[in-house]
Amino acid sequence: MSHAPVIGVLALQGDVREHLAALAAAGAEAREVRRPGELAEVDGLVIPGGESTTISKLAVLFGVMEPLRARVRDGMPVYGTCAGMIMLADKILDPRSGQETVGGIDMIVRRNAFGRQNESFEAAVDVKGVTGEAVEGVFIRAPWVESVGAGAEVLAEHDGHIVAVRQGNALATSFHPELTGDHRVHALFVDMTRAKRTAESL
Ligand code: GLN
Repeated sequence: MSHAPVIGVLALQGDVREHLAALAAAGAEAREVRRPGELAEVDGLVIPGGESTTISKLAVLFGVMEPLRARVRDGMPVYGTCAGMIMLADKILDPRSGQETVGGIDMIVRRNAFGRQNESFEAAVDVKGVTGEAVEGVFIRAPWVESVGAGAEVLAEHDGHIVAVRQGNALATSFHPELTGDHRVHALFVDMTRAKRTAESL
């Protein structure tokens, strides 16, 4: 049996520990990634929830933004939750000044879209590719996806708004499966990473 896929969590800001635990529970070897050299050693990467402008600025500061763009272009599996989803969007509708994204998913996101009155809420979300009962979606000042381009597939909606998207090996959710103890979305991502690695070794 081949060893577990090595999946990094971009550890500049945000809920890194929760993703490390969820990935380990889903069968990956999980480790923190801050530097280009660390990025080069992982099979896949999670960009956590947190604050997307802060993550963007720190990624530039740590010299990891360009290498990350290159690896995502190259097909490295990548999964972004909430702020991480924003980082994977080709375009932000309402960016803050100096805010950049990695890109990779042909979608336009709206930051803090669910509004102040709903800064935090939970809702059952049916996610395509996740079998069994609905996923408990934890939304914390969450973005939604305004629109997707032809290459992106919508995996879930909540209240008529797109909240999960996949394009090739890039996966993004508005909500935080790492906070619920249900590791099915992380398992989907671990499977994507394993499949990519197997394809490369053929
Ligand atoms: N509102 C945050 C942002 O714009 C995202 C919140 C989160 O990741 N929970 O980056």
